[in-house]
Amino acid sequence: MKVLVVNCGSSSLKYQFIETRDSLVLAKGLVERIGLGEVEYSFTHGNLPKTKITIQAKNHTEALKEVLNKLTSKEYGVLESLDEIEAIGHRVVHGGESFYHSALITDEVLKAIEVNCELAPLHNPPNLQGILACEEVLPSKKQVAVFDTAFHQTMPEESYMYALPYEYYQKYKIRRYGFHGTSHRYVAMKAAEFLGKPLESLNLITCHLGNGSSITAIRGGKSIDTSMGFTPLEGVVMGTRSGSLDPATLLYIMEKESLTPKQMSDLLNKKSGILGLSGISNDMREINAAEQGNARAQLTLKVLTHSIRRYIGAYMVELGRVDAIIFTAGIGENDYVVRELCMENMENWGFALDKEKNKQTRGTLTDISLPNSLSRILVVPTNEELMIALETQWVIEGKEK
Ligand code: ADP
Repeated sequence: MKVLVVNCGSSSLKYQFIETRDSLVLAKGLVERIGLGEVEYSFTHGNLPKTKITIQAKNHTEALKEVLNKLTSKEYGVLESLDEIEAIGHRVVHGGESFYHSALITDEVLKAIEVNCELAPLHNPPNLQGILACEEVLPSKKQVAVFDTAFHQTMPEESYMYALPYEYYQKYKIRRYGFHGTSHRYVAMKAAEFLGKPLESLNLITCHLGNGSSITAIRGGKSIDTSMGFTPLEGVVMGTRSGSLDPATLLYIMEKESLTPKQMSDLLNKKSGILGLSGISNDMREINAAEQGNARAQLTLKVLTHSIRRYIGAYMVELGRVDAIIFTAGIGENDYVVRELCMENMENWGFALDKEKNKQTRGTLTDISLPNSLSRILVVPTNEELMIALETQWVIEGKEK
């Protein structure tokens, strides 16, 4: 099936046009600064080199029209006509408690996404705008919403409830939701294929370590716990997010520095994590480059990998038996130092790392454990766009229940 995958941010529209049969990306592009004057549009269509142009687009609908023009144009087109688009898959960040899986977009689904805007005020509204733009411009196409949170709706209540007064769950739906669901599901699926075993028979720990990071415990293909929480702030140390810390520290800092909730939120989301600790960058490549002889860079690496090991340890206990630990996303796929530190002294738990193989592995699906390791350590490149395209197809074919 040929699926247009759409991911809208507040001023951006990212797309990939994917043939799911052979996982082929026929075209991809990004429109940025929508509604902010000079709109930048970069795209790679077919075998043509990457092209960058500026366009006029006051809103997502105008940006989408421009994208469809380019997709069908003589010069840059990969489509004879828009009829070739068989379905549209949208990334939607928050499905709240309403969605256990991806959903065909109907008026009811639109309403539910709107209700969940409250839980993701920065992300759901632009996601919704993207859907409405597609409805306006391509009214005959089937559209599917694929939620970052849906995969984690299988968590038991002991994993998702916080020990706050119960009324806050009732009043505001405060609980753990988890994110990166499409990525965790995709790499779990790929790992099962690679290991030649049914996903239902496997217990896995998936470590999505990118700019944002989360770790998930997966039993038989279902998420039973995950490190991100009510928002993507909880969990392991990330590029610019603090990850978990004593909640009292926030109150203390707010009082000492007279910060508003918005300022505190910026501090935790944009100025903390790898960037805040190192004072160098949010990018692990720069931390690695500075590490030799730089005490703050060394500290950052230690705190980061320690925070990841904490979750791995906790999820080993929750799962009881772990068949494989999977590393994915920018850091997980590329940073052998982080992987080595995460897997240090884990032989007694059944995980023996092949250090040489680990060192050589970057961005390819590889078993980096020693042959005699009881359980596997895998690097599995993620592909969230492909997963969205596949889920879109499965929903339309009635296979996603
Ligand atoms: P996002 O969460 O934005 O999707 P990615 O999964 O692409 O991000 O991860 C981006 C991060 O991955 C970068 O900020 C950087 O820390 C890390 N990264 C990317 N390439 C490398 C590399 N070769 N070595 C170490 N870290 C890398």
